[in-house]
Amino acid sequence: MKRNKSGSPKVKADKKPSLFSRFYKAAHSLRFTVWIYFAIFITSILVLIWVSFVLSLESTYRFQKTADIVDIANDIYSRWEEGFVSSAELGRLAHDNDMCVTIQDRYGLTIYSYDASGDSCYIHDKTTTSTKLAELRALADEAENGCYYTEVESPSYGTNTILFIVRMGSDDKSLAYLFLNSSLEPLESTVNIIKVQMLQVGLLLLVLGFGISIFLSKLISSPIIRITKSAEKLAQGDYNVNFNGRGYTETEKLADTLNYASGEITKVDTMRRDLMANISHDLRTPLTMIRAYAEMVRDLSGNDPEKRNEHLGTIIEESDHLTALVNDIMDLTKLESGANKLSLEVFCVNDRISDIMQRYRLLSERDGYHFYVSTGPEMYSRADVIKFDQVIYNLVNNAVNYSSESKSIYVMAVKTEDGKSIRISITDNGKGIKEELMPLIFDRYYRAEKHKREVVGTGLGLSIVKQIFIAHGFQFGVQSELGVGSSFWFEMPLVKTEDGKQV
Ligand code: ADP
Repeated sequence: MKRNKSGSPKVKADKKPSLFSRFYKAAHSLRFTVWIYFAIFITSILVLIWVSFVLSLESTYRFQKTADIVDIANDIYSRWEEGFVSSAELGRLAHDNDMCVTIQDRYGLTIYSYDASGDSCYIHDKTTTSTKLAELRALADEAENGCYYTEVESPSYGTNTILFIVRMGSDDKSLAYLFLNSSLEPLESTVNIIKVQMLQVGLLLLVLGFGISIFLSKLISSPIIRITKSAEKLAQGDYNVNFNGRGYTETEKLADTLNYASGEITKVDTMRRDLMANISHDLRTPLTMIRAYAEMVRDLSGNDPEKRNEHLGTIIEESDHLTALVNDIMDLTKLESGANKLSLEVFCVNDRISDIMQRYRLLSERDGYHFYVSTGPEMYSRADVIKFDQVIYNLVNNAVNYSSESKSIYVMAVKTEDGKSIRISITDNGKGIKEELMPLIFDRYYRAEKHKREVVGTGLGLSIVKQIFIAHGFQFGVQSELGVGSSFWFEMPLVKTEDGKQV
């Protein structure tokens, strides 16, 4: 690494992001994207409403006018048929609906007339001759249902009008013609007024909608932004950070998961520190001893064979301890990284256990330990034999180390009730393990009583055992009672051998 004059490492200064990259980032931010989608949504809705309203207004208006004329024509027709038509009633109907009404008899004589729109009415227009009206009457006569509908321009003002002629009366005596005229004139100006109003309301709604969408985009993106900020802190090494995803189920779940993850990272970090502290401590102690004893041999006991041997013995013991520690660390690292591939083979579990337990004979004879091995009929399983040996050694060694005065160790292998597995247990009558400590003992370097040197062990034994179980997919566990003893167990699959010995 390059160093500056003061000797400290040269750190590349953070390059200021370019305008383009800042714009690109902002344009791709969640908040901006949500806002833009909302804005597009609101604008398209408003445009759609405006266009459809303006386009449909004219046809809707014409349709409504026609429907009104038909309604009024029906009304007047039924009154005529019942023989009860008052001019006051006709006048009110015509006035209320802004229509012109005329009733003529079959000779063209006007019986009733109401002019609501003055000269813009086709019927009442000065230029509309009686011949024209007679033609219209004839058209109503020709029509199948006695009604004739047309749209005409009023001759004087050229305004569009709807003209409706109905033939009324069941006999010659009561025969009459109803002329209804409704102007379509206000349509254009009405449409224009509505267009302008719609545009004004639309613009207002657009501004309002944009405002609301900014607020909504902020609301939607805020939990994600909050979580991102906390994640940045976590990335900078602040493991006490709390993720808050309040607002939505998904973000709450995400925050919970991240809180869990940061908790685990904290644990791993603490464990890493502990591990480093423990390893350094455990390496330093034997190294100090080796150095001290080597100096003693050099300076004091070099010429005294008895003392020299004693001191050299201690040096050898401490070197062995160092070798065991380094081996355990290497084993665990390999197991944890998955680099250590299992070489699985089928073997007789009973024979294997008996072989291993033979090696504890010396301990039994010299130190008075009792090993009770009960393995029953031959049972076969598939596993990595070397790793299996390591597991049994570690568990039996622990049982020896923690068995206290009783010095009795039970090694059992039995078929499980479902007949699918072999359950192996190593039990001692030692001091037992506190309930709250049981989940911790399989952790690296966990030791119930920290670093008691009189107890042989590196603090990694159970972690190695656990990794081997995990790699094989074995079930495992521990039962223990303080002052009564502990029983470590695991289950491995029972397999059929080629000669069919095993079921
Ligand atoms: P070590 O035995 O080297 O300390 P291990 O990983 O083998 O490391 O065990 C971790 C801890 O679990 C031990 O320090 C001890 O406190 C506890 N332990 C393991 N086996 C037994 C047992 N049979 N009885 C009581 N405690 C045990």
